[in-house]
Amino acid sequence: MDRKLIGIPASPGIAVGPVHLLRWEIPEVPQRIIPDDAVPDEIARFHDVLARAKERLSQLRDRVEHSAGAQEAAIFDVQRSIIDDLDLTNAVEGLIKQNLGAEKAFEIVMFDWGQRFSRASHPMLRERIGDLKDVEIRVLTMLLDLPDHDPVDLPKGANAILVTHDLTPSLTVQLDREAIAAIATDAGTRTSHVAILARSLGLPAIVGLRTATSELTGRETAILDGSTGLLAINPSHRDIEAYRERARQEEVAEAELKHLASLEAITTDDVRITLRANVDLPEEAELAAKSGAEGVGLMRTEFLVVNRAVMPDEEEQYNAYKRVVEAFGGRPVVIRTFDLGGDKLPVGGFPSEPNPFLGWRAIRMCLDQPDLFGVQLRALLRAAVHGDVHIMLPLVVTLDEVRLARQMLDDAARALEARGVEFRRDVPLGVMVETPAAAVACDTFVNDVAFFSIGTNDLVQYTLAVDRGNANLATRFTPLHPAVLKLIKRTVDTAHEYDLEVAVCGEMASQPLMAFALIGLGVRQLSVAPRSVPLVKRIVRGISVAAAEEAASAALAAATAAEAEGALRRRLAGVLGGNVLFGETVPE
Ligand code: PEP
Ligand code: MG
Repeated sequence: MDRKLIGIPASPGIAVGPVHLLRWEIPEVPQRIIPDDAVPDEIARFHDVLARAKERLSQLRDRVEHSAGAQEAAIFDVQRSIIDDLDLTNAVEGLIKQNLGAEKAFEIVMFDWGQRFSRASHPMLRERIGDLKDVEIRVLTMLLDLPDHDPVDLPKGANAILVTHDLTPSLTVQLDREAIAAIATDAGTRTSHVAILARSLGLPAIVGLRTATSELTGRETAILDGSTGLLAINPSHRDIEAYRERARQEEVAEAELKHLASLEAITTDDVRITLRANVDLPEEAELAAKSGAEGVGLMRTEFLVVNRAVMPDEEEQYNAYKRVVEAFGGRPVVIRTFDLGGDKLPVGGFPSEPNPFLGWRAIRMCLDQPDLFGVQLRALLRAAVHGDVHIMLPLVVTLDEVRLARQMLDDAARALEARGVEFRRDVPLGVMVETPAAAVACDTFVNDVAFFSIGTNDLVQYTLAVDRGNANLATRFTPLHPAVLKLIKRTVDTAHEYDLEVAVCGEMASQPLMAFALIGLGVRQLSVAPRSVPLVKRIVRGISVAAAEEAASAALAAATAAEAEGALRRRLAGVLGGNVLFGETVPE
């Protein structure tokens, strides 16, 4: 092989295929002054490019409609209508007549439109910003005669390894699963949403490669190993054979874990641990149910919304929730209300904010938009008729938010009653403990909520002030930091004191060493990616709570995350007979 690039393992599995380099960024536009007599030709060239861009959008529309459905394809109609806008074309023509090259003229007008859209008070206009950016990239690429890297334009069966700087969730859900075998990104960490979504989609992925897009040309072949984070460039036949063999071994190991699905998650000293699944897409529900999960500990609802031209209506949401609830036949299904914002944006996004992770997101956005939130709450109360639904609020920092959300839930119930629609009123309402504020002040919530669920991905991010998606900070994202462990312990102890249920649904629960620590801290409910259910169950069945408690005490007493990890590792290795576990490693 030519060389190896090492990134962060994000979603397991091995893929071998051609590299597809996706550069979906606004290109550099040179300033070009044209003579007066070239103006008519430049205007004609501009119109010719617009016609080609529209043609391309129509092709994409048809393709996406076929592979993903009419709703998803509608985004391309929106983009065509931007290109058709006479104000836009007239403004560009005006600048060309002032002797500017078409590409600069177009860039200036798009910048102006972007500014206007982001200041617009109408949410629909603000949501169009992402479409505007897509149109800008597409048209500028053609005007500048750059290679076309359209993300959704790979032929079926291409088996490509998509290499890109960063992948937004909206791009991820657009990708054609029949064309793309794996994903590799410069940015991101294990807990960024691209990684989470790749795991849900079952696509092998490596994130945090930092320089892959600048080092590769798009003409290479590669092996991507999502379990180790290795991207091998231009491998030899022998390398490929060796990896195919590894892939076969991984399949065998996974098949071996399958028999665990029907066994109980019970420790060697007879303590039952409830293992639930995290479901990110409704289509995952049936598979998650087969993994042996006892319900859903976290259903993320954002992915119903990203990549959409319009928000899903009550009926569509009701059907999506009902599908998951029914797949679990009466077992608890915890559905989280929209956690939009941060890195999870609906199509077109929201106005750009200087600090999106500290911005107008999640429960804040829902409480400020009662119409949008009301639709979701009504759909949830209706879906609750079909099973044991729990509603969970994300990113809560104060009790006021819970109380307001409850009022809105009551309003939703009244509205359904008035319509004579069947629904359930007594749905348990809980909160995610994923901010230091919620963890430190968790006792303030105890009379108003039915359960806590600790979201360690955000809890670590906000406690340590480490962006969960920043590859440069990946080694600083340490869930075993004493501050994080103390916040988890405080939350779990408070829940026990007030007889509330408490679960952990962040990525920490999926990692064997961390699951061991969490059980030692008193957690009895873990919610993990469906693929991790058997693995975590195997850990649970191999340890005792007594050993986990002793290990957690040692971890809590450690001064650093590294010390805590060492203390846990030694103890877990002792308990399991010498196997050192971390990440997704499958124990012998
Ligand atoms: C978390 O923050 O730990 C969590 C489970 O939610 P998300 O990853 O969707 O932010
Ligand atoms: Mg979170």
